Amino acid sequence: MNDTTRDRLKAALADGGWIDDPDRMAPYLVDQRGLFEGRTPLVALPRTVDEVAAVVAICHETATPLVTQGGNTGLVGGSIPFEAGDEIVLSLSKLNRVRALSPANNSITVDAGCVLADIQAAARAANRLFPLSLAAEGSCQIGGNLSTNAGGTNVLRYGNARDLMLGLEVVLPDGQIWDGLRGLRKDNTGYALKHLFVGAEGTLGVITGATLKLFPLPTDITTAVVAVPSITAAIDLLARLQSATGGQVSAFELMSRFALHLVLRHVPGTRDPVQSASDWYVLIEIGALDAAHGAGPAVERTMAAAIAAGLATDASIAQSESQARDFWRLRETIPEAQTREGASIKHDVAVPIHAFAALIERGTAAVLDEVPGARPCIFGHLGDGNAHFNITQPPEIPAADFLARWDAVNRRVHDIAHDLGGTISAEHGLGRLKRDEILRYKSTIEMDLMRNLKRTLDPKNIMNPGKVVAD
Ligand SMILES: Cc1cc2nc3c(=O)[nH]c(=O)nc-3n(C[C@H](O)[C@H](O)[C@H](O)COP(=O)(O)OP(=O)(O)OC[C@H]3O[C@@H](n4cnc5c(N)ncnc54)[C@H](O)[C@@H]3O)c2cc1C
Repeated sequence: MNDTTRDRLKAALADGGWIDDPDRMAPYLVDQRGLFEGRTPLVALPRTVDEVAAVVAICHETATPLVTQGGNTGLVGGSIPFEAGDEIVLSLSKLNRVRALSPANNSITVDAGCVLADIQAAARAANRLFPLSLAAEGSCQIGGNLSTNAGGTNVLRYGNARDLMLGLEVVLPDGQIWDGLRGLRKDNTGYALKHLFVGAEGTLGVITGATLKLFPLPTDITTAVVAVPSITAAIDLLARLQSATGGQVSAFELMSRFALHLVLRHVPGTRDPVQSASDWYVLIEIGALDAAHGAGPAVERTMAAAIAAGLATDASIAQSESQARDFWRLRETIPEAQTREGASIKHDVAVPIHAFAALIERGTAAVLDEVPGARPCIFGHLGDGNAHFNITQPPEIPAADFLARWDAVNRRVHDIAHDLGGTISAEHGLGRLKRDEILRYKSTIEMDLMRNLKRTLDPKNIMNPGKVVAD
């Protein structure tokens, strides 16, 4: 980038709206897992949508590539510039106001840089629920959530980020602002343009604002951990619980014994949720609107029947909010515990739920064949058919030797997921990590459509180039 462009970009941003000091830029240049480290001449920190538009217009005119960044919690390297160092980073963290909330319309309109937990809190203050929920919610931003079409723990009942979005405001690659912030549940007026930008990982435009759906706030929450003898039994249990509660199950999270074992070993203050050990556990959450219609009795009856039928071996229903939080901590600290145990090779695969047991069985056999002694640490959103099929290194081999098997292990697991009608990226996106891997699984027609769309909207290829689709 030449000095003139750099000066123009700085001039477009209000005081303090940019960083070019290498030490202060460093946190913007490394991803969560430390897999990617990039370089940049400038981090832009716009405070208004007009500033975003001005920055993008200069980038368009000067053919300067840019990487939009939200909370930088993404797991596929999408928010990190390449090592070449010619892309600016456009961080939306200062664009973080709640613009409007309509209890009557059950909607909230926010800046894209709003942190997810702040949106949840704003909804709660208005006696409403914004149901998107994931372990990174204290730092990820709604613009990032929409751009990765994030999933999380409540997809089963409320859907993923795409399903929760009513309208968007987007700065297009030429700097124009498209105002699609409609709070409508019905609007059949041509192509649903807003959906193009969801899951696009910043390759088609910069999301600057969003109108989101709100829901009645459940106040009677039942949280339980259930030991199940098999995945098939767990799926059967889910069907029973949905029937018994009228479809109120919001979370149905799977944990393998090994995953729980790592948490108990590495995370202080955790303890076994049920008395008898089992190969598999599910963490269940069911939200009713009030105590009069609470799910507790139905859950207790269903659990008793499930244990009698051999679908569960033990269950513990949280008796307090603090116990419920303890149960969730077990699930949410699995990645942290896995890191402390050593290196891991990760997968974010999904299959139709009826194929889930086959995915785990065939996947485990393939991984052990590839790396004898490897330890599958399986958890995920079973209610959505989504497994975080993560593999912990065998203790006796060096981490580097294990990680050298990353591509080979990925290939085996991804092939199996694909063969079962599934996907190699359920909720994390493609970013840089899976950009080339996806070519093996998506048809030429589908990839050509994606490339043509990218070229049409971003002919100069300045929006997060080299992510999702390679030109
Ligand atoms: C502990 C932990 C748990 C997680 N759990 C889950 C989970 O359960 N489910 C799940 O789906 N993900 C999960 N993730 C992944 C991550 O949190 C999500 O992908 C999240 O949605 C990313 O949001 P972000 O603001 O951090 O985006 P970033 O990481 O900053 O960016 C992600 C991508 O979106 C683009 N982008 C960001 N903001 C914008 C914008 N305003 N306009 C256009 N493009 C933009 C970036 O260029 C990048 O390609 C988890 C991550 C961690 C660290």
